[in-house]
Amino acid sequence: MGIQQQLCEIHGRLDRAAQKAGRDPKEVSLLCVSKNFPKEAICEAAACGERLFGENRVDEFSIKHDNIKLSVDWHFIGQLQSNKVRKLIGKTSLIHSVDRPSLVKELQRRSLEAGVVTDILLQVDLQKKEGRGGAGTDAAKALLEEVSLCDALRLRGLMNVAPFGLSALDTERNFADVKGLFDGFSRELKSPCFDTLSMGMSGDFELAIAQGSTLVRIGSAIFGARNY
Ligand SMILES: *Cc1c(COP(=O)(O)O)cnc(C)c1O
Repeated sequence: MGIQQQLCEIHGRLDRAAQKAGRDPKEVSLLCVSKNFPKEAICEAAACGERLFGENRVDEFSIKHDNIKLSVDWHFIGQLQSNKVRKLIGKTSLIHSVDRPSLVKELQRRSLEAGVVTDILLQVDLQKKEGRGGAGTDAAKALLEEVSLCDALRLRGLMNVAPFGLSALDTERNFADVKGLFDGFSRELKSPCFDTLSMGMSGDFELAIAQGSTLVRIGSAIFGARNY
């Protein structure tokens, strides 16, 4: 199947999942995860009306951002090293993967320097296994405090990658827990900008939508299998 057909199928599934959950399908946006796919694939998806693209490596992000002259928004979704933050500032409309204080400080510093406000999500991992991105509950609460002191950062919400290998039931429970944390933060912040819950990928986006996701990140179900 081509990209256009895959997109059509995904939008159908997305709408049905939202309706089934009693939600307005317009509340759920699609981020096309174009990592490892060439410019042509992105242009094809953009020609179908897609406007949000996500990349997970800074160098690939920069090359695509600078060379693809389309009016689309670029999100950064990968683990981010502090020494590469500078390359993203001013080019990304949302960074999904903010998960530690040192990264918050560097994002604030570089955003100030560039005279821009950077939109971010806190990446959370409520199961918290070593070696993976994402802050546990307590670390996320500390980050929330930290970000609230940073005038060059705008906290838009939370992001989560479901732990690999869970059953559908446990995956859905995980998303429900993340939604619980999101609602708690939302009540605390009372900020209309805190409106984005990024969860759900090709294999689990319907479960994520059932639990309140507002932004699903889908790669292989649109572009095909990645060979790496
Ligand atoms: C690659 C990636 C995705 C998309 O994964 P698919 O399974 O191909 O849909 C989503 N989120 C993050 C953080 C990723 O790295």
